[in-house]
Amino acid sequence: MNFEDTKTIVNLGDLNLSGRLFGTGGDIDHETITLHSDPISGLKAVVAVHSTARGPAFGGCRYWHYVSDTAALHDALRLAQGMSLKNALADLPFGGGKAVLLKGAEPTDRDALFKSFGRAVDALGGTYITAEDVGTTVADMLAVQTQTRYVSGVMGEASFGGDPSPKTALGVFVSIQVAVGKLLGRTSLEGVSVAVQGLGSVGWRLCELLHNAGAVLSVSDINGARVELARQQFTAQVVEPTQILSQPVDVLAPCALGGAINDHTVKTVRARIIAGAANNQLSHSGIGDELHARGIFYAPDFLVNAGGIISVAREWLGEGDEASVLGEVTRIGERLAELIDRVQGSHIAPALEAENWARAKIALTR
Ligand code: NAD
Repeated sequence: MNFEDTKTIVNLGDLNLSGRLFGTGGDIDHETITLHSDPISGLKAVVAVHSTARGPAFGGCRYWHYVSDTAALHDALRLAQGMSLKNALADLPFGGGKAVLLKGAEPTDRDALFKSFGRAVDALGGTYITAEDVGTTVADMLAVQTQTRYVSGVMGEASFGGDPSPKTALGVFVSIQVAVGKLLGRTSLEGVSVAVQGLGSVGWRLCELLHNAGAVLSVSDINGARVELARQQFTAQVVEPTQILSQPVDVLAPCALGGAINDHTVKTVRARIIAGAANNQLSHSGIGDELHARGIFYAPDFLVNAGGIISVAREWLGEGDEASVLGEVTRIGERLAELIDRVQGSHIAPALEAENWARAKIALTR
């Protein structure tokens, strides 16, 4: 079957949908959602383009097991919304989008799968540019690149870029430094306690940076081998996955999947600061208000985890070099400092303030 024949484009504007769709936290204002399937490679993908107001929609590609197709759609919609905010706050000339590939039960030919996805991206004609996210690697993006130029995180001719995870970890690290300095009055991370949930590509790099800076780590992952390695390498305290969010620490860093802080877990949080890499850490915006009311500072994910998108965006544009990208990632800390000043003594929670800030930047572009 021809791949092109199997593509469906859902234009929400044409459908005139109003109200919420799968609880995405607001009216659906995505420009397009495309569904892509290819029975030969096994591809089942959702590409959500939230906004192209600032430029092509740029955001990673997630390859994950979902309990249902609608759960995958929901994830794509929320992640794409977050990318619009993230790219605007980071002053990148891009809108927001995200791709979600549904992992099947049967083992697939990975190379063929990502080539098929590459054709899907190419068919969108540059309105969406992809890169790595949870479950995808540089090798996957190289397969995508055989079919389209609308992909990054491959290094290619640029002397920098590739895997975005180290830059994401750096952005979270400088954000923790800034938050600890401004909110706890600590001049260094020496002896500062940090609980890290998730020891994947970003969480592991973050642990390295924190450990080298003298932070005291407690860690958790559902992968036992990873946890054991962290215990040895970072002298980290190992915590059960169900206990990591309630550790009595200075900083909680969620670096696993979204929705970690929900109506149930928010009551158990004992950290003063939450700053981690995971996208959509709060299951809904009311959680941000609750944290703020309890005096817990939540560093918005779409502000602090922008290091990776800065890296792949500059790589795709062919702008700058490793040093300039590192400088740009480090400036995430300055933005967080400004946000802390904006919300101190205010009834507006940091996540909402940051969202308003990003929306104002998007409106200015329009
Ligand atoms: P990853 O898949 O490499 O790592 C995720 C880790 O979380 C895995 O080790 C997994 O075992 C662990 N995990 C899953 N469920 C868990 C649970 N309940 N408790 C503890 N650990 C659990 O992903 P990553 O690339 O490190 O990304 C982590 C998060 O950061 C994701 O939410 C991702 O969207 C976000 N993010 C990543 C980047 C990037 O550059 N990779 C950029 C921005 C945002």
